[in-house]
Amino acid sequence: MKGIIFDIQPFSVYDGPGIRTTVFFKGCNLRCRWCHNPESWLTEPQLRFYPSKCIGCGKCFNICPNGAHVMTEDGHIIDRSKCTVCRNVPITATATLF
Ligand code: SF4
Ligand code: SF4
Repeated sequence: MKGIIFDIQPFSVYDGPGIRTTVFFKGCNLRCRWCHNPESWLTEPQLRFYPSKCIGCGKCFNICPNGAHVMTEDGHIIDRSKCTVCRNVPITATATLF
């Protein structure tokens, strides 16, 4: 069996009785209206980005082959239409693939 895991939560106490480690896979097709994990819907890898954690070091600007990263007056933004999920993205606290 193969799958893409986008999160692992130890000490998970909200998804059933008792304490467990919850493993989240991508590719859920249920589309619940109350979904708390819409990042699970697609089966393909996606770029995860936390703008508030970006320090503007520029590593991802230099490494992206498609120019998807842009620094503006409003800060670091990503043009996701240019992202091909090339897996060149630096694995940092701010930008990872999931
Ligand atoms: S997302 Fe990460 S690698 Fe890119 S500029 Fe911000 S801190 Fe640097
Ligand atoms: S995954 Fe690749 S194409 Fe997408 S933004 Fe990062 S470096 Fe650019």
